[in-house]
Amino acid sequence: MKKPPLTLLLLLGASIFASAVWAFNTTGARWVGVSTTFHVDIPGVAPSGQTWSAAFEDALTQWSEKTAFDFLVDRTAVDPCRGYSRSTGSNMRDFPAGIGDGQNSAGFRNDVCGNDFGSNVLAITLTMSDLGSLGFTQMSQSDIIFNGNLEWDIYKSATKTAKDFGRVALHEIGHSLGLDHQLGVPAIMAPTLGNITTLQDDDIAGANAIYKIKDKCLTTQINVNARINDALKTGDCRIMDLFGGSDDTSFVDVYKFKLDKMTFLNMEMKSSELDAVLIIAKTDLSGITIFDDFGTSCDPKVATSLPAGEYLLLANSFVDPKKCGSNTGTYSITITDTRFPLLGLVKNASGNAMVAAALFSGAATAGNGTTIKTSFTANEAFNITAQIAPDPLHVGLTGSVYVLVTLGNGKQFVKDRAGKFELFNGALSTLAPYKTGPLAALEKIQIADNLTGINSGLVGQSVSVHVGYAIESKPLDIYYGSEPIKFSIDAN
Ligand SMILES: [Zn+2]
Repeated sequence: MKKPPLTLLLLLGASIFASAVWAFNTTGARWVGVSTTFHVDIPGVAPSGQTWSAAFEDALTQWSEKTAFDFLVDRTAVDPCRGYSRSTGSNMRDFPAGIGDGQNSAGFRNDVCGNDFGSNVLAITLTMSDLGSLGFTQMSQSDIIFNGNLEWDIYKSATKTAKDFGRVALHEIGHSLGLDHQLGVPAIMAPTLGNITTLQDDDIAGANAIYKIKDKCLTTQINVNARINDALKTGDCRIMDLFGGSDDTSFVDVYKFKLDKMTFLNMEMKSSELDAVLIIAKTDLSGITIFDDFGTSCDPKVATSLPAGEYLLLANSFVDPKKCGSNTGTYSITITDTRFPLLGLVKNASGNAMVAAALFSGAATAGNGTTIKTSFTANEAFNITAQIAPDPLHVGLTGSVYVLVTLGNGKQFVKDRAGKFELFNGALSTLAPYKTGPLAALEKIQIADNLTGINSGLVGQSVSVHVGYAIESKPLDIYYGSEPIKFSIDAN
């Protein structure tokens, strides 16, 4: 990221870039993602017999098929001038006022939404954009106004008096993609109308330079319950590799996850070395939400519900960190689909410094399991629930899951395979497993189900519960969460 994100949704510095054959150039703006939807319903038929709508769709299709960008078509009519009006400036060539309607559309008009076309202007592309924080201007809307005062047709031959709608549409759509005029090589983006009627290599290369994601940005598939331990370092992919046209040199690691249904997610990125930034996006890089410091910390923390679909999670930092360390260094990301808190960092009971990218979470809850509590009355029903997402390298291997309960009086119990709490003498080699078998990607553990202080004999006790696991080949390397599930049961 280049600077802290501007308030999202607010169109700060909103501006209209206009471009037209023989008239204007665009800037380095681009769409955030690699697709957008155009409303196409242009009434009428060309002298050639083809409808204007069909020719416009053909032009969109050429760009979609030959480049990394995809135009989707919605055939419901939207007025391309909706949300724009004649500007009040004295110069009739000023571009219209307003911020549009947020939708992309095209059509013939006798003026540019109230303002003059000026002489020799075949068409104008109006683009709304705002200054993002990823090193490029983010386009959010594009409308193409064809000059209805001129004579038009649709044909492939050398240019005639009647202008060829098809090649002008191709050119204007190029501006909609953020392309500028091109001189010196054959291009539909040439500044003047010529005999080229299809996209040229230079046009395709231009669009792909903006929208094709560079191969070096490897994507790592992750589960929705996972802990990632990695680092941003020299040689990593950069934001500018993901978003062509960006000049944001900050490093980024790219993760991908899939949700089968609307899912509540807790995500947290932590680092003591870099100024962490977490970005959620759709897989086409649209729908970006940027998370920076949570509260007074320097680390981003997100609690959100996302609809079913595939998402990218980008671990990022600043080009130029102003606080909270560097723009390179190690970080961890935790992502869970539970409202239960994380149980700290990953520890190894053997004392070995073996790192596992495992995730432990859990809580004690009142009766129905929805309310997390840390103290209960003597006859109040409680549940204790935990879940373990083993390191992906351990998933599928034979292993054991452990539950260890420590009471305030120092006594320790393990929950065994039979579901019984057995006294534990403290020797790791005698620790009885709760479960043994292939480790699932998510191990859910019901530690207590509808107990009360009275029927469990825990009245007046404080209780700490640790959960952990080990793989069969290294039985003493028991990984567990550094923080237990903690609660107490009031004395009567
Ligand atoms: Zn142009």
